[in-house]
Amino acid sequence: MYQTEFCRRSWVEVNLRQIRTNLDIYRKNLPADTKIMAVVKADAYGHGDAEVAVFLNACGIELFAVSNITEAKTLRLAGVKGEILVLGYTPLESAALLTEYDITQTLISEEYATQILFCNPGIKCQFAIDTGMNRIGIDADRPKECEIMIRKYAARSRLTGLFTHLCVADSSDPADKEFTKTQLRKFQQIANSVSDLALPYVHCLNSAGGQKYLNACGSSGIVRLGIILYGLKPDRDFEMLPGIQPVLSWKTVVSMVKTVNIGEYVGYGCSFQARRKTCVATVPTGYADGLSRRLSDEGGIVIIRGAAAPIIGRICMDQMMVDVTDIQDVTAGDEVEIIGSSLTADDMAERIGTIGYEIVCDISKRVPRVYLK
Ligand SMILES: *Cc1c(COP(=O)(O)O)cnc(C)c1O
Repeated sequence: MYQTEFCRRSWVEVNLRQIRTNLDIYRKNLPADTKIMAVVKADAYGHGDAEVAVFLNACGIELFAVSNITEAKTLRLAGVKGEILVLGYTPLESAALLTEYDITQTLISEEYATQILFCNPGIKCQFAIDTGMNRIGIDADRPKECEIMIRKYAARSRLTGLFTHLCVADSSDPADKEFTKTQLRKFQQIANSVSDLALPYVHCLNSAGGQKYLNACGSSGIVRLGIILYGLKPDRDFEMLPGIQPVLSWKTVVSMVKTVNIGEYVGYGCSFQARRKTCVATVPTGYADGLSRRLSDEGGIVIIRGAAAPIIGRICMDQMMVDVTDIQDVTAGDEVEIIGSSLTADDMAERIGTIGYEIVCDISKRVPRVYLK
C-alpha cells in the first residue's frame, strides 16, 4: 500500500484513462472472444494494485493474476470481483486464506499440490506446466505423467485450469522464436491430452506472446496481460502497437537553486567538480524513493522547463542535485519530471542496463500515487 496522503515533494501520477486505451488497442489486435487476465502483481507494477484492479473491473475485466496471497487479499478487500489467480508460492500455513478470500492457487509442483490440498482440500487451483523456463510447474517433457496428474487432481479437487509461461516471447531472435514455438507445442500437447475435462482456464501467453504468438497458440483464449497494459515494452527492441503509451509519470519539484563556482564540489564523495560556473538545482527525491543510484554522476537526467538537466554528484537517500546551467530561470517550486512523456521508464532503464519493469516496481511506497481519471 502506498502512502496515501498527497505531498508535493515526490509523487506519481497514474493515468487510468491511458490504461483503458492500452487495453482497448491491445484487445483490438486479438480475436473477439479472447479474454484478458490482467496481471497486477507487485502493486500493479508500481501503479497501485487496488486502484488499477478496481478500475479494470469497471472496464469489464474479470480475471486477475497476482504473485502472492497478500496481494490477492488486498484486491478482495478493495472489492475486486472475479477470479484472482496467485501465480506463485503460497506458504502451506496460509492455505486457509485461499478459500476465505476465494482465491485460485497455482500448483507449482506435484509435491506442493499434495501438500496444499492436504492443508485445504477446498481450494480452487490451476496447474503450472513447465515448458522450458525451469522456474515452476510440472515437467512438460513428461506429457503422460502430466496428463495423469492433471486427471488425478481434476477428480479430487477444484482444478480450474492449466498454464505455462513463455520466457523469450519478447525476443525477435530466430532461435528464441523457435524456443517459444517449442514451448507452445509442448503446452498444447498437454492441454489437448486433457481437453475432455473442459477446464475453463487454459492459458500460455504473456503481453509479448499475446501480440506475437496468438496464432501459434490454438487453445488459449486468454492472454495474461502485464507490462503492455502499463504502456511499457516487454523488451528494448519490442515493436509496440501504435497508440499504446506509458501510464505513469513521476514528478518532483526544485527545492532550491544555487550557483557553484569553478573548482567547487557537489554531493557525497565530492564526485562532481564544477568545470564552469554551474547553476545547481536541488530536488527532493532520492534512492529511498526508489530512484536508482546508478543514475548518479550524469548517468541520468530529469526534465525541467522542458529541457534535460543532468543528475550531478551522487543521488542521496532523499535528494539529488541536477545541473540547470543551460536552462533559463529555474526557480524553487518548479516542477521536475523524473519519468514522463519525454523520458519514459524504458528510457531510464536503458541508461542503467535494466528493464522498465524494474524501474516502475522500484518506485517506493513513500511516493504517493495520484490517479487521473
Ligand atoms: C508476470 C507474469 C506475466 C505478465 O508478464 P508481462 O511480460 O508483464 O506481460 C504473465 N504470466 C506470468 C506467469 C507472470 O509471472
